[in-house]
Amino acid sequence: MTSDPDCIFCKIVAGQIPCLSLYEDDETLAFMDINPANTGHALAIPKAHWQDLMSMPDATLAATARTAKQVAAAVHRALNPDGVNLVQANGPGAAQSVLHFHIHVLPRRSGDELKLNWGPLPGDMEAIRAAHQRIQSAM
Ligand code: 5GP
Ligand code: ZN
Repeated sequence: MTSDPDCIFCKIVAGQIPCLSLYEDDETLAFMDINPANTGHALAIPKAHWQDLMSMPDATLAATARTAKQVAAAVHRALNPDGVNLVQANGPGAAQSVLHFHIHVLPRRSGDELKLNWGPLPGDMEAIRAAHQRIQSAM
């Protein structure tokens, strides 16, 4: 499996950096975002290091999309948001800050006025843990 020793998500996959995990299978991992744009913000990633949509194999994209769908369904059951966006960035011009492919699962509230490039702010770990528990139990 391809891995980059300098990549933060590869370190999470390897267990070198902790995460609040929601789901794992042979090819993919889902966990809570550390700088949530909204309560319940989660990420789905391939375990292998692929920089972006264009470089990754279709089968890996399909596996990661399936995981994102499962997380979105659990977010929906657990938090009952008004909507859910899947957001995915490729390249710095699209505001991709971690160069390991990922799909954001973003619970939305009507009128939350979340901008697509929201600008990450440090999250409240207690709030992230509480959302993690609710979504995890709905997985
Ligand atoms: P991007 O800006 O590349 O679309 O999204 C990268 C996401 O990864 C950001 O939302 C950021 O908060 C999240 N992130 C960066 N480092 C970490 C980390 O160490 N742990 C977790 N859980 N999320 C991270
Ligand atoms: Zn990586």
